[in-house]
Amino acid sequence: MPKQKNSEPAGCLAVILKLIGIDLGRASVGKTLPYRLTDKFLSPAELSFYHVLMQTVREEYTVSCKVNLSDIFYVSRPNENLAYRNKIDRKHVDFLLCDTKNMQPLLGIELDDSSHAKKKRQDRDQFVDQVFAVAGLPILHIPAARGYNVSELAELIRVNVQDKKPVVATPRIPGTQHICPKCQIPMVQRIAAKGKQKGQSFWGCTNYPNCRETVWEEGTILG
Ligand SMILES: [Zn+2]
Repeated sequence: MPKQKNSEPAGCLAVILKLIGIDLGRASVGKTLPYRLTDKFLSPAELSFYHVLMQTVREEYTVSCKVNLSDIFYVSRPNENLAYRNKIDRKHVDFLLCDTKNMQPLLGIELDDSSHAKKKRQDRDQFVDQVFAVAGLPILHIPAARGYNVSELAELIRVNVQDKKPVVATPRIPGTQHICPKCQIPMVQRIAAKGKQKGQSFWGCTNYPNCRETVWEEGTILG
């Protein structure tokens, strides 16, 4: 810990208390809020699969555990945000693989244990699969097992991870209202504030920053 110059006596006391494990701020909060750290962040089955997954993807992908679907997907039609966001904001995917360079989500993985055989769980799985499919993110279901074959898993991941979407060119017709190719909603005209195209007019999606689709004067959508 760096030496503090001219610290107040009260500050000194707080530092000493903190060193011996008493945090004044935390102690008072702890009595009112009912939050405690869970002992089951990952189940034993999830943990064992996680270790195999880490061994399989190494540095190529970043693995996140239990990612809320509303952190991965957004509702493309703003006027239906409430209804459709409610359907995903209490659901998570067991594992999410992202491109380590830019943390772009590439693949969802669900570890299916015996609970997935139940009707309610199957309905939930079907809905989650549809969300992934319509948003263009692949999802893999791996049956929970005592052991996993690393090379088989690597191959499964390889064939399922999507390549980056190709750049789509759309002709710009002057005076027309552009529709976002991703969200299918009207785009708005904006002026670039920075970058190479500074001062130029372009069409941007109203879902920005969730959607970064743009249509430029040249008629090219830049990724
Ligand atoms: Zn859009």
